[in-house]
Amino acid sequence: MQQGTTVKPVRLGLVGIGKIARDQHLPAIADDDRFVLAATASRHAQLEGIDAHHDIADMVAGRALDAVSLCTPPEGRYEQALIAIEAGLHVMLEKPPAVSLSHISELKRAARRAGVTLFATWHSREAAGVEPARAWLADREIREVRIEWREDIRRWHPGQEWILAPGGFGVFDPGINALSIATAILPHALLLQRATMDVPEGRASPLAVRMDMHCGAAPVHAHFDFLQTGPQTWTIEVDTDAGTLSLTMGGSIVQFPGEQPRTEPDREYPRLYARFAELIAAGESDVDVRPLRLAADAFTIAERRIIEPFSF
Ligand code: NAP
Repeated sequence: MQQGTTVKPVRLGLVGIGKIARDQHLPAIADDDRFVLAATASRHAQLEGIDAHHDIADMVAGRALDAVSLCTPPEGRYEQALIAIEAGLHVMLEKPPAVSLSHISELKRAARRAGVTLFATWHSREAAGVEPARAWLADREIREVRIEWREDIRRWHPGQEWILAPGGFGVFDPGINALSIATAILPHALLLQRATMDVPEGRASPLAVRMDMHCGAAPVHAHFDFLQTGPQTWTIEVDTDAGTLSLTMGGSIVQFPGEQPRTEPDREYPRLYARFAELIAAGESDVDVRPLRLAADAFTIAERRIIEPFSF
């Protein structure tokens, strides 16, 4: 159990009881005594012994809550977050924080006006290798960056039709995790120059994306693919004046030039909830839109190619 820093735990409402809520949020909340799960809002799911509601408006109406954590798909999250903020509740957002930059900027303004915390989480930034990689790269000359994020949509997102619908982000749903790491560890801003997107016929969002960016003078190439069967790849390699740093397994393993790979047990979601508790206690918000901005840039300038229809 985490040691509590406040006398009264934050009474939390969890919205969208799906895969990530069950896999990560519930264990992290249960293991942190700064939070108590007080209510849920989900149309098809309930948790035994927890006050259950069909939607967030109903859940916040009673107001025996201090905060909500949104684990729903990004489409609809703006409306849900606004309901919570206007009810005076602190809000933690799963990634990507919203479907548009305008939405997240409005949420930021609304949270400031209401005097509540808004935390746009990027769970991959909490992977064990990310902070050591950032610290090592801070003084290095970056020469080239290669990002490969290739996974099997049918294995990790079975039946999640929303991912390929408008606002579902397609392969950016995992790819934005790579962008969240890259924007955290690289010492200069990432700027997009060119992109291509492969969108299956009859769907709105891409199954594959290539992005050519630069970071200072260094080229940055990213390839996201949702049709990778066999071994799965979540890798970032950074060539520098002192050799190549690599982050593998979504940032959980870091390898510095000439050294053995290093890792630690996964603490991504416990660290997110710890940060949420700290932000609430300090009366602050944390909303970094850089990964979302790069994805939005890609949706704006990419060349689209229609590929064969996809079904789960
Ligand atoms: P999911 O399994 O589909 O769960 C989302 C839940 O949200 C659903 O069970 C659903 O519960 C509720 N919901 C509300 N409105 C919905 C709508 N219009 N369409 C579909 N579901 C809706 O999705 P997930 O994998 O947990 O992902 C949710 C968010 O977490 C996404 O932003 C994703 O990027 C992020 N995330 C996912 C993973 C992962 O490994 N899956 C990892 C990190 C982050 P009710 O039907 O009961 O309302």
